Order: sequence, then structure tokens, then C-alpha cells
Amino acid sequence: MYPFSYTRVSDTREAVTAGRHGGRYIAGGTTLVDLMRETVERPGTLIDISSLPLREVTVTERGGLRIGALVTMAEAAANPKVRTLYPVVSQALELSASAQLRNMATIGGNIMQRTRCTYFRDVTADCNKREPGSGCAALHGFNRMHAILGTSDACVATHASDVAVAFAALEASVHLLGPDGERRVPFADFLLKPGATPNLEHDIHKGELITAVEIPALPRPLKSGYLKVRDRQSYEFALTSAAVALHIRHGVIREAKVAAGGVGTVPWKLPAVERHLIGERPSESLWAAAAEQAGQGSRPLEHNRFKAELLKRTVERQLRVVGGTK
Ligand code: SF4
Repeated sequence: MYPFSYTRVSDTREAVTAGRHGGRYIAGGTTLVDLMRETVERPGTLIDISSLPLREVTVTERGGLRIGALVTMAEAAANPKVRTLYPVVSQALELSASAQLRNMATIGGNIMQRTRCTYFRDVTADCNKREPGSGCAALHGFNRMHAILGTSDACVATHASDVAVAFAALEASVHLLGPDGERRVPFADFLLKPGATPNLEHDIHKGELITAVEIPALPRPLKSGYLKVRDRQSYEFALTSAAVALHIRHGVIREAKVAAGGVGTVPWKLPAVERHLIGERPSESLWAAAAEQAGQGSRPLEHNRFKAELLKRTVERQLRVVGGTK
């Protein structure tokens, strides 16, 4: 470890004022403390926001859901409103990390978590995300867990969050409070693909604080669920995953929201799959044909060629689980 200062704030304005001067926000600390121990991150000041009043889960006027940034993963997963309205969110949370981590980690921290690329966490390895311009050890290293979608020559790391995949599928937005007031960013724009600057990961300005994630109202009834494929059944990151939500009325799919995890540098929305489903009747052949659209434009690496096919199978299986067949 190395020296840093610590301050605790009790309201959001105080937090933003402190954040403006360059400190790092900390709540559950399940990512940041690890990274500080490994000296990957060296913040000069930590601003403890854990006592801010951002712990509510509320149904919005339009019937969507607003989850406060400091709601823990365990609280959100167990919340009756989340479970009833968006099972895909509670399932994604329950399949994440471990029980101990879910009790500490917050929703805001979860979507801000940094990649689990082992080279990023090894300060002796070349890593453009940790040290811009140094290179990418994963490109020609062991890259079985890395991304096949949204990659660049500078970085091929996946985004590790499961619940972010559900948020991406449902087209959620991120509420921010900063020195210039409040801002709302669509989830699809909040997490940035690496391009030439993999060190820039979020559309978040200096001093801005995440206050909530909002999921829009969707037509009812809405069936949804999350499937995570991984090397072991507990405490492991996804090789592939699929978040699926379907609105089926009079036997026809009227709305489809689908995204994939474990394959993209950001949670990967699958609009071609969604388009293939809308207006059709559920059937085994429809699920298979729609899943064929997943992974368009993928660029597999030496050790993760299996992911393109696994992604299709993951999407097909979860379409069948959520949509059923006649
Ligand atoms: Fe760093 Fe990204 Fe390469 Fe991993 S994949 S070593 S995070 S630049």
C-alpha cells in the first residue's frame, strides 16, 4: 500500500464538491480496494459515499424502476419490485460474484468495475488500459476469457459485470449528479468501447456521481431471465451470458430485448436478434434462427474461438427458456 487521504461525506452535494478536486468515490470497495492493494490504482484521496441517501428502489411514474446507486447487489436481487418486474436483473445479480461480495458491492460500483483481464491486474505486464501506449499483453498472450466483439488493436478485455448485461438489454439509463447539475446517459453510451483509448471506460465527467440506474417501463406481461455459462457454477466470470426479455401477446412476440455478456468489451446488445424475433410466433426454429444472428462481426482471438458458437447456443437456450414454444 501507499499513503492516501480519506474523507467521508454525508450528502450528495458535498460528495460532488469533494469529487471535483480529484478524489475517487468509494462505497462497497470490492473492486477499488483490490486494485489499490495490487497498486493498479493509486488514488490520492478516497471519498467515502457509503452513507449517502441513495439506497431506494422505486417504481417510476411511468412504471419503470429506479435503483439507487448504493443499493447493494444482494438488496437489489432480493427486492420484490425487481424480482417481479425484471427477473432478468435479479437473476443476473444472483449469478454474480459470491454472497459476501454481493452483500458489500453496490449497483453503482458494479457498473463502474474494471476489467478482470489478468494482464491489467499484473503491473509488470504491458497494458494500454492501465498504462496508455505500453501495449496489450493479451493480444498474443493467453486470451481465452477475452472479448470477441467491440475489440480494438489496443485492447480486447471484456466487461465483467452481469447485471450490466441485463441493464443493456433493457435499455436502462444512468443518472449522474455533477458540478454542472444532473445528467442522464443511456446505458449503451455510458460504457465505452476501447478504440484507441482503452483507459477511458465511462462517459462520466470529473466529480460526477452515479445516483441511480433507471430501467424504462416495458409492455406487460414481460417475461425475462438471465443465463450465465462459466467454467464452474459459482464465483466465476461468464464465458458467455444472455439477458432476454420478451413481451408476447396473442401468441406473437411484440417486443424483444436481448444482450450478451462475456463476449464484448462492453455488454453487447443484439439488435439483429431482436429484429428477427419481433412479429414472429415462438417456435424452436425461430429461437435457432434468431440466435444465428448473435455474434455478427466477431473477431475471435487465438484461445477464444469457441466463444462465437457458444454465444449462439447461449442465446438460443435462453430464448427457449424465456419464450417457451407452442
Ligand atoms: Fe490491458 Fe486491455 Fe490488453 Fe488486458 S486486453 S492487457 S486490459 S490493454
